[in-house]
Amino acid sequence: MERYHHLRIEGVRPLGETARDLVIHNGRFVRDTTADVIEEVLDGGGMLALPAPVDAHIHPDKTTWGGPWLSREPTESLAGLIAYDASVRADMAPVAERAGALLDHAIAHGTRAMRAHADVAPQYGLDNVRGLRAAADARAHLLDVQIVAFPQLGVLTAPGTDVLLEKALDEGADLVGGLDPVGVDGDRDGQLDLLFGLAERRGVELDIHLHDGGASGLDQITEIARRTTALGLAGRVTVSHAFALAELEGPELTAMADLLAGAGVAVTTCALGADPVVPHAALTRAGARVAVGSDGVCDPWSPFGNAEMLDRAHLLAYRTDARTDDELAACYRLVADQGADLLGLDRVGFRPGEPADLVLVDAPSVAEAIVRRTAPSVVVRAGRVIARNGTLLPGGPA
Ligand SMILES: [Zn+2]
Repeated sequence: MERYHHLRIEGVRPLGETARDLVIHNGRFVRDTTADVIEEVLDGGGMLALPAPVDAHIHPDKTTWGGPWLSREPTESLAGLIAYDASVRADMAPVAERAGALLDHAIAHGTRAMRAHADVAPQYGLDNVRGLRAAADARAHLLDVQIVAFPQLGVLTAPGTDVLLEKALDEGADLVGGLDPVGVDGDRDGQLDLLFGLAERRGVELDIHLHDGGASGLDQITEIARRTTALGLAGRVTVSHAFALAELEGPELTAMADLLAGAGVAVTTCALGADPVVPHAALTRAGARVAVGSDGVCDPWSPFGNAEMLDRAHLLAYRTDARTDDELAACYRLVADQGADLLGLDRVGFRPGEPADLVLVDAPSVAEAIVRRTAPSVVVRAGRVIARNGTLLPGGPA
């Protein structure tokens, strides 16, 4: 249904460069245009233009976004959190409604794509996948969404989950997830046999939550890399959180970064609270892919989070002691460029042929936008203005 559309954004500073005009034709940047085409003109007002961010790890099915405040009860363990999450879910609004509200907020703050995990377990069936898919499909013109079928309650420890994970692929999920093969299932090879078997049989990517730290965590990461290489799945496997990597330094870190880069295993990190944050500079220097996500947003697990990825870049920078302008900008490159790579999207570098998914930010530089957590003033999706000042335009793109 591609309609002819032409937009000129006048006077913006791509990634802080000197001000220039951006010319967009049917959703992609072009070199320039002849004057005889009818064009829409947007005054950029000298604002900073940034590639639209990507949220590489988020759980919209758990969120309370748009609903009443949830006063969370104290819990003392991971098992307690999981049980509490499951117990309050029944009283929450339908998934499509809550997830949809969160997706709208993320879109209005510039997110162009997300990898979203949806809980799959015998007690939920596929309700979360279906609800999230419905929310995503309703916004497909505004946001790309990959859905991971996520076994929050375990794979082997929740019998029947294996069948549901595969079924989820027929009902809207794109990837298969995993969860602490040792820490949750107590069986490294049992869970990994199942996940990699599915990846091979169904030709899908894997994204495995791994909170396990220490030697066990590192062993599981090493085994995931080994299996990825053995099955020729380079570029199709992600380890999310990968807390164990945060314990490494020196030659051990270099060796692990080389292993991940060589195997084509990506890592996502969320820079949450007191959680360990992966050493992203060493990993990316080695050529490993590191993308950034929100994780849970305002859900039974945590009252925090907002799905605003410029804000997430700030949190990553803060947690990793970014100090120089380049260190600050590097955090945004993970959010935008590496996130796009992870989801198989073209990067946005403001060059001809690239997708015109961008945000305009009223900040002097990338570094200052990150430090000051400046929210985007304008969001452009495929060459069309879709949001201003954190609010979606009524009636869709204009
Ligand atoms: Zn997660």
